[in-house]
Amino acid sequence: MSGKAFLNYIGGEWKETVSGEVLESYNPANKNEVVGSVQSSTRSEVDEAVAQAKKAQKSWRKLAGAERGNYLYKAAAILEENLEEIATTMTKEMGKSLPEAKGETTRGIQILKYYAGEGMRSDGDLIPSTDASALMFSKRVPIGVVGVITPWNFPVAIPIWKMAPALIYGNTVVLKPATEGAVTAAKVMKCFEKAGFPAGVVNFVTGSGSVIGQGLAENPDVNAVTFTGSNNVGKNIGKVVAARGGKYQLEMGGKNPIIIAEDADIEAAVDATLSGGLKSTGQKCTCSSRVIVQSSIYDQFKERLIEKAKEITVGDGMDASTWMGPCASEGQFNTVKHYIAKGQEEGATLVLGGNQITEGNLKDGYYIEPTIFDEVTTNMTIAQEEIFGPVLALMKVDTVEEAIELANDVEYGLSASIFSKNIDHILSFIDDIEAGLVRINSETAGVELQAPFGGMKASSSYSREQGQAAKEFFTTTKTVFLKG
Ligand code: NAP
Ligand code: MG
Repeated sequence: MSGKAFLNYIGGEWKETVSGEVLESYNPANKNEVVGSVQSSTRSEVDEAVAQAKKAQKSWRKLAGAERGNYLYKAAAILEENLEEIATTMTKEMGKSLPEAKGETTRGIQILKYYAGEGMRSDGDLIPSTDASALMFSKRVPIGVVGVITPWNFPVAIPIWKMAPALIYGNTVVLKPATEGAVTAAKVMKCFEKAGFPAGVVNFVTGSGSVIGQGLAENPDVNAVTFTGSNNVGKNIGKVVAARGGKYQLEMGGKNPIIIAEDADIEAAVDATLSGGLKSTGQKCTCSSRVIVQSSIYDQFKERLIEKAKEITVGDGMDASTWMGPCASEGQFNTVKHYIAKGQEEGATLVLGGNQITEGNLKDGYYIEPTIFDEVTTNMTIAQEEIFGPVLALMKVDTVEEAIELANDVEYGLSASIFSKNIDHILSFIDDIEAGLVRINSETAGVELQAPFGGMKASSSYSREQGQAAKEFFTTTKTVFLKG
């Protein structure tokens, strides 16, 4: 055990769970190292947090937006003071390299600042009434209590990109972080506590998804649930919340394609494929997983891809020599191994990697080699299901039209990219691709906080997060007709 377990934060107080149990978080780069532990809470504690959030919402929503903004600015400043420590914890807890972890924490700070400013921007429209003597306007108002359920792969940025807009628009929140990123999330919560939010405005309850997450979904006082995670869990949350008339937002998995047309800049396309596919060990929801290449350049592209993939350095991410870290957990490691075996079983050709790395210290972690499959066809499991690991599937097509059709032949639709210089190809890609994030001559991963973010098809409930789009979810509208 490394120190005391992190506590829940309920109604402005740090509290131990009544269960008396904790959940330990391990370093995936060294399975013998416990990074920290959090409370294994019970249903009664989610309900208590929701009750506190409900109570606090009454006065929180009455504050001027600018005043709520000040709390967010303060949280941003405190997060900045703790950046180094939080990023290091993230690297140790889920294996993301330290530069990436710092980048993510910096993103969290920027998001807080962006939404802090939102407290002073327009929250409605003036609409001309047919009655000339009346004033008619719309006004955005908070929904109430928001349940926030987040995954482990962005343990700082995702909780913040949900909580910051929820709070600025006058809602109160209960955060249930992913267990595998909960120690990092607890440190973020400490920053919120230090920022001095009134008691009950921000609450934090850790524990198993099926108890705490499900508890938030079922509690009738949770007016809205915002979820990011896997498709199966998300779909169930959507059902439960909808059944009781609540609002929900689901951002889920992807099976993101990158198309390489014959006129592409091959070198740039190779770099984008590796960076978009294998950075963060393939554990971003926007990671490229299917690499769809035109036949005329297929061999040339493949050769260069393998050559450059061989240069990837793997390690624990704590210094600059690491390009790629371990899988985030034993479960994730086993899932990736399962899909690699499945690819081989179903007839794809393994042209690079495919094995656990057992050299030196790496044997103590959940490391898998950068892996590339060739001759992958669309009916194969590895071309359809999200792997969430360092695995690329090469697929061959004759035309760009065929490439787009193949790209769309999955249940997901989060992000998609094309490398081409041909404007006709680019325009048809923009028009025909079934994805919420459409990227040209750039990798599939990459999100800007001021722009809408979200997927199509099974990747999303079609709601959008971030930027101004967040307002849609975290508020509802009053239409006011005023006559003297
Ligand atoms: P997950 O297993 O679905 O978990 C997500 C969250 O839901 C966690 O907090 C989890 O708690 C909780 N949960 C688990 N079972 C639950 C249940 N029955 N009821 C309510 N909540 C429950 O996903 P993950 O493994 O953490 O994250 C990886 C997935 O997230 C991938 O599919 C990835 O594509 C997706 N993702 C999507 C986006 C996006 O914006 N589209 C961004 C990042 C990640 P526990 O941790 O305690 O199980
Ligand atoms: Mg999980």
